Amino acid sequence: MRSSVTAGSGGRIELVDLSKRYGSGEPPAVDHISIDIEPGEFITLLGPSGSGKTTTLNMIVGFTEPTSGAIRLNGQDISRLPPHRRDFGMVFQNYALFPHLTVAQNVAFPLRERKVSKVETDRRVGEALALVDLAGMEKRRPHELSGGQQQRVALARAVVFSPSVLLLDEPLSALDRKLRQSLQREVKRLHRELKLTFVFVTHDQDEAMTLSDRIAIFDHGRIDAIGTPAELYHRPATQFAARFLGESNVFAGEHRTDDVYEWRDRKWTVGGERRVGGNRVLIVRPERTALALDERSVPAGANGADAVVTDVSFYGTYYRVELTYGDGSVGSAALPVGTPATVSPGTKVIAYWRPEDQVLVAE
Ligand code: ADP
Ligand code: MG
Repeated sequence: MRSSVTAGSGGRIELVDLSKRYGSGEPPAVDHISIDIEPGEFITLLGPSGSGKTTTLNMIVGFTEPTSGAIRLNGQDISRLPPHRRDFGMVFQNYALFPHLTVAQNVAFPLRERKVSKVETDRRVGEALALVDLAGMEKRRPHELSGGQQQRVALARAVVFSPSVLLLDEPLSALDRKLRQSLQREVKRLHRELKLTFVFVTHDQDEAMTLSDRIAIFDHGRIDAIGTPAELYHRPATQFAARFLGESNVFAGEHRTDDVYEWRDRKWTVGGERRVGGNRVLIVRPERTALALDERSVPAGANGADAVVTDVSFYGTYYRVELTYGDGSVGSAALPVGTPATVSPGTKVIAYWRPEDQVLVAE
């Protein structure tokens, strides 16, 4: 028999041309966004502070009424349903536990509201606490727990009634780095075991990359780009996405003809991407960038840019070499550990890469 806590199946959420404007004179907090979220998907809304992530989550859960557009759950329009009829689990950054209730009473709270019997409640609370590794903590109160443990209680409370969707608004942002990483693994395991649809909000790109099936990058209330972490990293569709997710070398030159991109006095071969016209910037990721000390050492067919090394730092698995290019822009190359340390701040180099490793995006 499947247990009741783990018996949920993920709901399909569709956001259809959804907008929210808090005041008539203000720019929209969420501006005509559309996303189809697959049943059981782990999707992350990633973006800087104020980009509309929380507003979107609050519209999904029902705390905030959309100005226009629709929200569907498994094909049904739920835009006008009150939160309790949507039945979604929610976890906030600040735990939001009831301080006067014990751990068990906190987790039981959604079941009491739903008039679940005492026997069934005890069984489900036990299961939910076991799921987040808190068995034995039933009688403690929130102030007797660490931040990480409190957030586990909040997770247990959010899934105890078997919702089809779990919404998490920066649930780990208040925790220190070590704890955050261990809770990230916990959240990932929960998703694997519960098979619910997770909509996760964060402003932390590494967290988004490690957890998500897909990431939607928010910018000023709009979705700037959406895709798997690998797609967004290797083939960013916009400069904002490239800059927000990981490091980049960004060159502002001119894509003059089909095959040639001009940057300062250099003419670079354009690889797979051949969209001409408009202002395009050329982007290369640091781990695709190598360094040569003179022009003769640049392999045939590679594109190269003149730079000066401005910093070298050791990251355990690679060296990050910070580069200042001829036009003043700053980028970096990630060099594998084991390569001879031939560069130091002040060294003049040519950063080079294969044309197929570059991406041209709209400015
Ligand atoms: P994020 O979660 O990405 O930081 P929010 O959704 O909280 O962004 O905010 C988006 C925009 O909407 C911001 O400009 C913010 O100031 C504004 N905003 C958020 N909540 C309210 C509110 N209750 N009333 C008025 N403006 C709000
Ligand atoms: Mg927020």
